[in-house]
Amino acid sequence: MRKTFFSQFLRKVRRFYLAYFHGNYVEKSVASERKGECRRCGLCCELLFKCPFLGRDSQQLPYCRIYGDLRPGSCRNYPFDRIDSEVETCGFKFT
Ligand code: SF4
Repeated sequence: MRKTFFSQFLRKVRRFYLAYFHGNYVEKSVASERKGECRRCGLCCELLFKCPFLGRDSQQLPYCRIYGDLRPGSCRNYPFDRIDSEVETCGFKFT
């Protein structure tokens, strides 16, 4: 899919909606269809806009300043499914 500002905005809205209103769908999709692991590229934290909680350590690797209970559900489980997966270099893939 072509990445325009509008398409990224729609995916952000979808991600928020699924994270907060369809948690069961997200859990099932992640558990049954998602393979791989996070490579800490940090690109999912810069979709549409750079997250204000995105930090960089001394080696310039990204980290979340609110990692843990405060981290929003829409970030915690990225990517939820194939549609949500928009970072081409992400370590997670869907079967
Ligand atoms: S885009 Fe994928 S690999 Fe990169 S930080 Fe996000 S979850 Fe991890």
